[in-house]
This record gives sequence, structure tokens and C-alpha cells, in this order.
Amino acid sequence: MKKFLKVTLIVIACLAVIGFVGKYFLVDKALIPTDASFTVDMDEIRRLATSQDGGLPAEIRALVVAEGAFPSWMVAAGGGGGEIPIAFVAYQIVYADKTVVIDTAAGRAAFEVMPFKLKSFSDANYEVLQESLKKASLILITHEHFDHIGGIAASPYLAEILPHVLLTTEQFQSFFMKEAGFPAGSLDDYAPLSYDGYYSPAPGVVLIKAPGHAPGQQMIYVVTKGGVEYLFVGDIVWSLENLKREVNRPLLVSLMLREDLDSARGEIRWIIDNLYANPQNTITYVISHDGGQLNEYFKTGVIMEGFK
Ligand SMILES: [Zn+2]
Repeated sequence: MKKFLKVTLIVIACLAVIGFVGKYFLVDKALIPTDASFTVDMDEIRRLATSQDGGLPAEIRALVVAEGAFPSWMVAAGGGGGEIPIAFVAYQIVYADKTVVIDTAAGRAAFEVMPFKLKSFSDANYEVLQESLKKASLILITHEHFDHIGGIAASPYLAEILPHVLLTTEQFQSFFMKEAGFPAGSLDDYAPLSYDGYYSPAPGVVLIKAPGHAPGQQMIYVVTKGGVEYLFVGDIVWSLENLKREVNRPLLVSLMLREDLDSARGEIRWIIDNLYANPQNTITYVISHDGGQLNEYFKTGVIMEGFK
């Protein structure tokens, strides 16, 4: 009996150590190394942005389609208890004569089968988004996850809008496209865009390849005719909290999302050093899901609320 008790105690102790070490590596620690590397040649981005004929955009607008919450430990490693609000947002670049949409959230049905807590879904805003997709001269996504491409995939106007949807080869060929919700056969004749590094699809707009969070992740730079610069960083991080504490999502979440960690860490380091922690930075960087950051931008007027 004594021996049994001893063995049991040893097993419990071993499990506790394994659990502790496992939690440490899988949940608590995802520090961004100071030497993680990724770079963006901003001089070249600015040159490309103004290299096309046609007027630059007048303003940037945003439409919140849905709001939810993730446990804070899931968003930023070592986050402890509580929740972090997560917004699902579509953005609109408004020109004098046209509009471009960045990211399309997803329809109500796609959100309802997801395991996270959805606090609200605006049918009215989703309808506005769908009408805006019909009018847009170009539709871009930061990456191919369902909560960015779903509004295209499930669009009642898919055939009509598809000629204006610009997917990259990495997005189009990504394993995540199977979960995006496109009807079978709807993309059979689709020809994606292949580019290296940077590409300008419209005046004032430059795509910046940044795979890591997803194979087709890209940042999208926009400059307005007033000279205001924006950088849509997609889901490279989900919250300002990641930048403040210099942490990625916990390893457990990164593994579940099949992130390329080396690339993702380099991009987060670049965002911290060049945007978040750089007192000279004048670029408005937009974290797709950070509703708190977006509300600040609404307040200062750097991004306008609602679509045109
Ligand atoms: Zn997302």
C-alpha cells in the first residue's frame, strides 16, 4: 500500500511538472525576440503608391459587422483571465469616383458555428457591406481566413462581384480556402494575382506580402490625397495588447492556426519597432480585430464610421 501511495505521488508530481512546463510553453510565453527580422522598404512603398495614374483616395471608412470576445490568454500569451473584445470589420477606401473594400467579415451563419463568443451581429451593416461590394471597383482581403473572406464567399452577389475580387496566389491556394465557404465550382475560372514583395493594385494602395499568420497574409498600405498614411496589418496581431507586451498569441493557438512562427515573429517585431514604439511614426496602423483601437480612430476622425 505504501509503495502504491509512493508511485501515485510520483506520477502526480510528474504530471504536475509536465502540466506546468506544457502550460509555460504552450500558453504563457510567446515573447517576440528582439532579433526577429522582417522589413518593409517604406520608400519603395510610397513610390509605388503614387506611381499610378488617377487620383488618390479621399478617406478611409470602417463598418463593424460583428463583435465578439476571445479569452485574453488566447489573444496575447500570458494574458491571464478575462476577455478581450474582438471586432469583425470591413474597411472602405473612398475615392472621388470609386471605392475599394478591404476585408469583408463573414455572414451570420459562418460566425454562429464558430466556438468563440459572438456578442452581436449587425444584419443591417452586413447588408450595407453586400451592397458596397457590388459597387466596389476592387475588393481586397488581408488574408484568407473565413472572418475576412466570408463576406465574399457567402455573398448573394458572388458572380457579380468576383471579377473585382483580387486574391493572391498564396490566398487562393491556401488550405484555409476550403473553410472560406465558397460554393462548389464558383472559383473554377478564377485567376489569382502573383506578386513578389509589393504590388500596387490601385492609386494610393500597395499590397505588402507578409505571410505567417496565414499563408496569404498581406499588409495593405494606403495613402490619401491629404497625405494621411494607413497600414492595414490584418491579423498579424489581434490586439494592441500584443504590441504593448511584445507577445504573440500563445504557441497553442499559433499551432492550431498553423502559423509560420518565424515569419509572424519578424512581422510583429517590425510593427512594434517601426509603428507602435516609434515616437516618429505617423502611419495609422489598423489591427483588423481591435475594436478599441478602431473606436479611437473614429473619435479622432482618422477613420470614418460606416460605409458610403
Ligand atoms: Zn481575423
